[in-house]
Amino acid sequence: MNIKKSYDKKIRFGVSFKPNNFREIKRKIEELKELELDILEIAFLEGVFITEEEGYEIRRESDINRVALSVHSPYYINFNADNREMIKKSKFHLCKSARIGKIMGAENIVFHPGYYGNNRKNGFDKIKDGIEEVSEVLKAEFNDTVLRAETMGKKREFGELEEIILLSQSIDNVLPCIDFAHLHARTQRYNSYPEFNKLFKRLEKRLGIEYIKNMHIHVSGIEYGREGEKYHLNLMDSDFRFDEWIEAVREYDIGGNIIIESPEPYEDAIMLKNLYWKKDEN
Ligand SMILES: [Zn+2]
Repeated sequence: MNIKKSYDKKIRFGVSFKPNNFREIKRKIEELKELELDILEIAFLEGVFITEEEGYEIRRESDINRVALSVHSPYYINFNADNREMIKKSKFHLCKSARIGKIMGAENIVFHPGYYGNNRKNGFDKIKDGIEEVSEVLKAEFNDTVLRAETMGKKREFGELEEIILLSQSIDNVLPCIDFAHLHARTQRYNSYPEFNKLFKRLEKRLGIEYIKNMHIHVSGIEYGREGEKYHLNLMDSDFRFDEWIEAVREYDIGGNIIIESPEPYEDAIMLKNLYWKKDEN
């Protein structure tokens, strides 16, 4: 696993951001530094639009400010699509995300593997095959970024916890991006200290201690119904027991990246970081 740009931190708190242009990314990195946040997830949700040259410039900005980076791949990915063109496009988008990620010095490339349409039954193998091909291409390019398959919040999406664990065990450079809001919305569970603790134990047992020390996590509040996720909320406006969650993260000595995806991510990121370091107790 590739842990080259950790900036000496075992755990990093940061936010996700969908930029409209290259300048916004640079500005965001500076903002994070001022707020003493540690990582920016650049969400190229509608496609990677920056050039390689701009990628190198963002890398410099990230190094100067000591703000680490991760990438969120476009929404257009669906490795379970019925038509081949769509699968081809999915490979293209994931490869492109990983290539620009590598240039920017991002270690982790988050993506949504796909949807179940008519293909619930063979979905897993099809998705696995598609991602495996991307993994081979990247390996041949000496691209050592980690593809982070996200646990998804809607029941029609591929991305139950067990599916993501199995996918991670099947493909070399794939590991989970555990989205706690999605897990909670999909199952209505995972909302107490014992449940969080049990989850970390299960992940350690299946994926090893090195994974536990290098997790990539999404967290926010969430509104949900019978079909799972509806929309994200700020932590305070949700039923998510974030105080028990951060306690479990600390007690289990989780390492890696915690990306906040609330509508007002700065407030929640700073609150969680302070809770983690118990800055409220003085
Ligand atoms: Zn996502």
